Amino acid sequence: MIIKCHDCSKEVNIENKVGFRELCPHCSANLHSCVQCRLWNTRSEQCTEPQAEKERDPEAGNFCDYFIAREVDSSEPEDSDRDEAEAMWRKLTDKSETGLFTTESQRTQRFGFGFTTEYTEKG
Ligand SMILES: [Zn+2]
Repeated sequence: MIIKCHDCSKEVNIENKVGFRELCPHCSANLHSCVQCRLWNTRSEQCTEPQAEKERDPEAGNFCDYFIAREVDSSEPEDSDRDEAEAMWRKLTDKSETGLFTTESQRTQRFGFGFTTEYTEKG
């Protein structure tokens, strides 16, 4: 897996999992730290795992059992994206099949200017 160093922002390739003493090969920052963890909320700067012990320094290496390395976005499973697109498409097609477009004006609104110009040219 590939993780991104919070310190130097460089990508680090990890073969198995991030060890307790894993350091960034570029800048020697601790990679087993709160800020490198998926459970870490970067906005509120707090751990989202209530069971985890609070670390005094979120950038320091820790021995937290709940640590899950935050992988770079490109390694996210592609399936989730596709499912979302499919669900959205299904939603759209469902709507068009339930007879929502009963009048010409509604159809014009739905399909945008293409239809609008067609109708105004005639009228
Ligand atoms: Zn680094």
